[in-house]
Amino acid sequence: METLAASRPGAVMKLEDKLSKRTQRISVSATLNVLSEAEKLKARGIEIFDFGPGEPDFPTPENVKEAGLRSIRTNFTKYTATSGIMPLREAMARRHARDFGSQYTAQETIVSVGGKQALFNAIASLVDHGDEVILPTPFWVTFQDLVTFFGGTPVFVPATEENDFCLKAADIERAITPKTKLIIINSPNNPSGGVVDDQEFRKIARVVIDRDLFLLSDEAYSHFLYEGRKPFSIASVGEELKSRLVIIGTLSKTYAMTGWRLGYGLAPTVLIQQMLKIQSHSTSNAASISQQAALEALNGPQDSVTRMLGEYTRRREYVLNFLKTIPGLHCARPLGAFYVYPNISAFYGRKGIQNSMDFAKALLDQARIAVVPGEAFGTREHIRISYATSMETLERGLAVFKKFIADLG
Ligand code: PLP
Repeated sequence: METLAASRPGAVMKLEDKLSKRTQRISVSATLNVLSEAEKLKARGIEIFDFGPGEPDFPTPENVKEAGLRSIRTNFTKYTATSGIMPLREAMARRHARDFGSQYTAQETIVSVGGKQALFNAIASLVDHGDEVILPTPFWVTFQDLVTFFGGTPVFVPATEENDFCLKAADIERAITPKTKLIIINSPNNPSGGVVDDQEFRKIARVVIDRDLFLLSDEAYSHFLYEGRKPFSIASVGEELKSRLVIIGTLSKTYAMTGWRLGYGLAPTVLIQQMLKIQSHSTSNAASISQQAALEALNGPQDSVTRMLGEYTRRREYVLNFLKTIPGLHCARPLGAFYVYPNISAFYGRKGIQNSMDFAKALLDQARIAVVPGEAFGTREHIRISYATSMETLERGLAVFKKFIADLG
């Protein structure tokens, strides 16, 4: 009997070939992939030293949780305006002004489902097919995939390890072509912890204005700075840049609220309106309960942020000092976020390890330590170690890490 496929040639085509080119250009977030591998092992009852997480290990502050519960009890559980409730948009603009000296109104603010959605909407609103987008490496994986998803071409500019991954304006300027549309900066940086020096940032702003570009600044980690660095936002430099600037922020890291999915965008009203269009056809509003919790997080006491920063400071010092005791391992000094990004290339060629993917796999298989390989962030010689985990896990896990490296020979 003739098969259906043989009688209808189209039917033998694989489903994959019929899927949109857009989705085939991107892949599942590599950082989430590593987390899921570690999760599988944990589910089997295996102890993992988990240095993978990109989220605070602290609970959401009590006052914030209470506000969420209050929202449920008072039936604040329905749709809200797509761009978020007005008191929250006002609170976001006010908090940003207080913390960083910016000047945004509620109309220039949109509440979204995590920083990721604001980022998605902003890139969708700015990037067309053929546009080039300057993306410093190492980069948080989502930037690259979103640019590619919307038909843009990422142009990579290395933030070098010798400069502790602090990006230089001159390097950005050299990468500009007539096709450049947007520059994406993430400072403090995920994964390197690198921080763009305030003066360099101002120079980048000047380039953006002079070359008629847009700047997207992702401030997910801007409250977590070390060695006397003060929080800085490029939004504080004044009006001239404002029409070309979009700030992406999130409550995920600052207030340990990753699961509440609450982020925001600050941008000129015209751009906010574009972002709103997309949001209105995708998620609509961020969860009403999360919005009430966020209102409390932004308006309430800020001491939980200070406490978390104190703990990260202690752990960062411990991790950096410990890594110095491992022969062959070089680690830049991160000035922000909660990651270190050591160079492990000295161990390539040993026991079949050729790249950071091999290294991370061997580390998980043999030492039960989860890290994210640098390939996920556009560099081949590094791994990301998160210290958003308990001091006890760091002490025990890093001792095992040191032994794993010693055993490589
Ligand atoms: N930006 C950066 C640099 C991040 O690392 C993350 C999360 O890991 C986000 C934005 C988005 O976080 P969320 O969607 O939880 O707000």
